[in-house]
Amino acid sequence: MARDNLRMIRKSPWVFHFNSGGCNGCDIEVVAAFTPKYDVERLGMTLTSSPKHADILVVTGPVTRQVAGSLKMIYDQMPEPKIVIAIGTCACSGGIFRGGYNVIGGVDKIIKNVICVPGCPPNPRAIYSVIKKLYDNKIGGDEGNGSSRS
Ligand code: SF4
Repeated sequence: MARDNLRMIRKSPWVFHFNSGGCNGCDIEVVAAFTPKYDVERLGMTLTSSPKHADILVVTGPVTRQVAGSLKMIYDQMPEPKIVIAIGTCACSGGIFRGGYNVIGGVDKIIKNVICVPGCPPNPRAIYSVIKKLYDNKIGGDEGNGSSRS
């Protein structure tokens, strides 16, 4: 496993946020993580509106059957190396929606090597903490091909 994917990203990491079917509770906490109080931007991160420019995919909510194909397409459009973070219990495992007729489960049903931040919703401090650990190279990300972007 490429444990140092973030280090291989030779620029400030850009983040694409995708709600795969959640209640918006986790979305609010992701937004809060980017506001001055928690300020993940101090780590050089910024949100981008295009997966083609993203180094990190942040997913909130359970993966519904309706969006599963879109989630895979977004992931495939991201350049290597890339990291996927599931924010909230729903994104990690399906959460309270697990077993629903229209829910596949967590993000790991579609994408391998997902970093999970559990909670309903997780505190922005927890989101910051996981990202900081990534910076400190303590947890792994998705397999990259070893290439770097300049
Ligand atoms: S984990 Fe909780 S807050 Fe987040 S999408 Fe699921 S139900 Fe909503």
